[in-house]
Amino acid sequence: MLLSHSQMNVTGADLEIETIKEKVLKEAGRIMKPSFGKVINATGVVLHTNLGRAPLSPAAIEAVREVSEGYSNLEHRLDTGERGSRQEHLEPLLCRLTGAEAAVVVNNNAAAVLLVLSALAREREVIVSRGQLVEIGDSFRLPDIMKESGAVLVEVGTTNRTSLADYGKAIGEETALIMRIHQSNFRIVGYTEDVSIKELVELGRQHSIPVAEDLGSGSLVDLDAKGLSGEHTAGESIKGGADLVTFSADKLLGGPQAGIIVGSREYIESLLKHPLARALRVDKMTVAALEATLLEYLDPEGAWKKVPALRMLAEPPESVKRRAARLKRMLDRARPADLEYVVTEDTSRAGGGTLPTAEIQTFCLSLSHKRLSGAALEEMLRKADPGVLGRLKEDRLLLDLRTVADTEVPLLADIIRASA
Ligand SMILES: *Cc1c(COP(=O)(O)O)cnc(C)c1O
Repeated sequence: MLLSHSQMNVTGADLEIETIKEKVLKEAGRIMKPSFGKVINATGVVLHTNLGRAPLSPAAIEAVREVSEGYSNLEHRLDTGERGSRQEHLEPLLCRLTGAEAAVVVNNNAAAVLLVLSALAREREVIVSRGQLVEIGDSFRLPDIMKESGAVLVEVGTTNRTSLADYGKAIGEETALIMRIHQSNFRIVGYTEDVSIKELVELGRQHSIPVAEDLGSGSLVDLDAKGLSGEHTAGESIKGGADLVTFSADKLLGGPQAGIIVGSREYIESLLKHPLARALRVDKMTVAALEATLLEYLDPEGAWKKVPALRMLAEPPESVKRRAARLKRMLDRARPADLEYVVTEDTSRAGGGTLPTAEIQTFCLSLSHKRLSGAALEEMLRKADPGVLGRLKEDRLLLDLRTVADTEVPLLADIIRASA
């Protein structure tokens, strides 16, 4: 490995052989340490986009390992010996789980929206309510993605109210698509009006215009039953008559990063023929992880236990409290002199632009340090190996145990002890 003098910060006074050796080893260690790796998510945000969104189920991890350590039948039909399509591993499951006729999977949901608009509405008009032109996060705005497809955006209604008549008036010769977008990361409350997918589909049918719905999260299971209301499932969109429905595989579905498009055979076929379908296609590891995740959903009650994102969202507060108490007991044994810590009640969030108003009761270990501010304690744990991310509240560091796995608790205790 080649290192320049400036990289090693060598000055004349440092030219002792031992000092140089030490500096070289330290610098080599720094360069060779991977930048990307594990962190402990104690933020309580279940689908934390910056922390990799959904953790995979053991079955999904095993499926990825199996297809990536050797060869696979990714695009080869073992029954006939002919060339196949990677989509064939996912389409039947997605159809079964949503009631759709056909499905295609691309790299992420932004890509799914781009493909739908590029294939169906390029240089033509797509009608969208002003109340649904969302910024997804990190300054990515859906209207910008839509424009990139070459579609002409026709905005109707106002921020808080859009009626069926608003859509009706906007329909003209150039209309290619009506699109409904799920409000994801915000809610408009008060004096509001919104048009359901069913009503839009009726309007679309009258004018022979397809209707697409971008669900963002697109759950495959009924969340209301677990007290997490406000999202409808991809199946409900299809039942409502949507011609195409797009959603992420790594939000509420709890799988790998991917964008799922389900809908009528005719429209899915036109997506598959578009050159972007090849540019946006998913790799074999994604196919493996997504197929394994979808298989869990064939038993919806089982999915609540086996898909980590669902399990974390639905875990009863008392069970999270037991994990917080376990972490506290582990620290008690080491008696870190400068740390003060108690188990406290607080609120977790779904994250990933889903269930924005859901306040999920949780339990945290609330830490403070005798000589350090909350911010300094936060920095110390963030820079540990692996990094621990919590949240600051009134100069205390809260470690939310909802997003910390049982198996991570001893490691978390070690890191806190070593840092304190
Ligand atoms: C999150 C989201 C997207 C983008 O999905 P990615 O999988 O992150 O690309 C698009 N539309 C809506 C409504 C979303 O909530």
